[in-house]
Amino acid sequence: MSFSQTHLLGIEPLAAPEISTILDLSERYVYLNRSNMKHGDALAGLTQINMFFENSTRTQASFELAGKRLGADVMNMGMQASSIKKGETLIDTALTLNAMHPDLLVVRHPHSGAVDLLAQKVNCAVLNAGDGRHEHPTQALLDALTIRRAKGRLHRLSIAICGDIAHSRVARSNILLLHKMENRVRLIGPPTLMPSGISDFGVEVFEDMKEGLRDVDVVMMLRLQKERMDGGFIPSEREYYFRYGLDAEKLAYAKDDAIVMHPGPMNRGVEIDGEIADDINRSVIQDQVEMGVAVRMAAMDLLARNLRANRTREVMV
Ligand code: ASP
Repeated sequence: MSFSQTHLLGIEPLAAPEISTILDLSERYVYLNRSNMKHGDALAGLTQINMFFENSTRTQASFELAGKRLGADVMNMGMQASSIKKGETLIDTALTLNAMHPDLLVVRHPHSGAVDLLAQKVNCAVLNAGDGRHEHPTQALLDALTIRRAKGRLHRLSIAICGDIAHSRVARSNILLLHKMENRVRLIGPPTLMPSGISDFGVEVFEDMKEGLRDVDVVMMLRLQKERMDGGFIPSEREYYFRYGLDAEKLAYAKDDAIVMHPGPMNRGVEIDGEIADDINRSVIQDQVEMGVAVRMAAMDLLARNLRANRTREVMV
């Protein structure tokens, strides 16, 4: 089994076989989660602390459930109410928590790079649950698992990522992962929502939605990240929906069996038509949520194995 990481900070440091290892183990957890006995003991005796400095519904619930199903003691830190509000720095908070001997620290933070910094200061496994517009590795992994299950493979697929690419950590992590697994990635959106240096990403860029969607296997929609915008990036939501909102007419340009994805939270009528989102023949949005729990169980299981092995080695030296 190939997985040598001590943290999960992004997709960037992962090798393709490590991605496959996580996905293969996730399959076992999908099976467990569908059974009546949803308990494993991979994290028994370990303490998991979730620190979310940014709002989250799906991701936090998913990490909490994943930890509990594998037997960890899980604590959710209400970061809104914590000492951060009293002016304590991120690092001080991390060091305070570190003194309580957590084994797994799940962190979401509005600043890109903040989770990497924190990982250097603590001696437990750190999982990035989204840092600014940088990375959201478990989202890309759950998307990959969803695609692999729906399409029967995770290579040589044509995948369109549409909308607010510039502000999206989901897009960034997905581009990295899909490239490592040898897929063709197209980015579709207005030039104002494309990141600078897009030519270095090794992707095809389209301004026209219909052109970009032509014959793709997967359509991945993104939310407009208004909280990260500091100006007028789109003329109006109406106009945006007209040009970039996924409706039946635009979807008809993709392959007949193309699947539709969205990481949530979804703005119906802004980036996606509600009927498309709910169409069980095309949309795999609920599958993404289901895969999220399994992928997080697998990621924490693998990190815990390495953590235990490293601690044993340290004791023996
Ligand atoms: N939930 C995802 C994230 O945290 C996507 C989004 O918020 O639009 O990045």
